[in-house]
Amino acid sequence: MKFSEFPRANIATLPTPLQYLANLTEKLDGPNIWVKRDDLTGVAFGGNKARKLEYIMGDAIDKDADVIVTGAGFQSNWCTQTVAAAKKLGLDIYLVKSAPSEDYDSKDWDGNHLLHHLMGAHVKTVRPEKFMETIDATMEQLKAEGRTPYYTPVGGSDPTGASAYMNAVLELTYQANDEGIHFDSLIHATGSGGTQAGLVLGAKAFNTGMKIIGAAVGWTEKKEQIEKVRGIVKESMKKYSLDFQLRDEDLIVYNEYVGGGYGFMSEAKLEAVKMLAETEGLLIDPVYTATAMACLIDLVRKGGFKKTDNIVFLHTGGAVALFPYKDPIRAYIQGKALPWTKPDWSPAAE
Ligand SMILES: *Cc1c(COP(=O)(O)O)cnc(C)c1O
Repeated sequence: MKFSEFPRANIATLPTPLQYLANLTEKLDGPNIWVKRDDLTGVAFGGNKARKLEYIMGDAIDKDADVIVTGAGFQSNWCTQTVAAAKKLGLDIYLVKSAPSEDYDSKDWDGNHLLHHLMGAHVKTVRPEKFMETIDATMEQLKAEGRTPYYTPVGGSDPTGASAYMNAVLELTYQANDEGIHFDSLIHATGSGGTQAGLVLGAKAFNTGMKIIGAAVGWTEKKEQIEKVRGIVKESMKKYSLDFQLRDEDLIVYNEYVGGGYGFMSEAKLEAVKMLAETEGLLIDPVYTATAMACLIDLVRKGGFKKTDNIVFLHTGGAVALFPYKDPIRAYIQGKALPWTKPDWSPAAE
């Protein structure tokens, strides 16, 4: 199958900017650090999912869908961007969100949860054990009503979604050429794995020599996370007839920066959020990009890069989640003990 033949909806604003982080580079006194601003993809505060949604929504429209069904965590960026993309294309959307209890709602509507309601998504919250059966029931109900629902899995992490990040590698390579540089490594947050799979596919298929480093954000074991990414890479290679040698060293995952669990706050994540805000006026999110930046900072401090290296931090978005985390952020700024590290809306809270 040829890339040029993929059905694609016009959703993201591309290319996203590539910027040099001079102050952060000076502060950390290590390699040259750049940022690829995929937080500026232009749909409801932006993020990496907008790239994937160009292809996912393209496929949905190709299949004559009139309603999208998806789901994820309670404060999900994926849900926000999927709702925005659906609404932009005039489609209805149903969200199933994992929460501490059935029909859970938060005291405040804040961050992504506020946006899901604001954009008019149908929202259902359930315990994680009931997630898939609720998705299936929603699909059946919509079909029974004579509608054409389209299901897209959490994070859009299948070969369709991953192909978007193969494209992003090409985009980044053009930009690096314009700047007269070569990137030795790219660091990003990895969750459902589609972004990393696409980046690995692009880096290998276009022979960039760029190391792709994923900082895991969830509870999965390192090995499990690697296998998740490998699975999507392999499936994509088959689907797109790509032929290259996938080696173990092509799949790099760190899970040392999760800090207790998915969405939990930690001193290292807060340090990363504060450092980027203070040195560059750049806002990163407390869940994903803070984990990846905590990884980057630690690797630089441990001497993991040469001073002559050029590394690029992929900003995958999500900064709207700073607001539901305002209490621990405030405590950190004021040098006080964190009031909590485990959010109320986390299913692990029960
Ligand atoms: C979803 C998300 C990621 C992880 O992308 P995956 O393709 O799911 O691995 C990283 N950063 C942010 C802000 C996200 O919302």
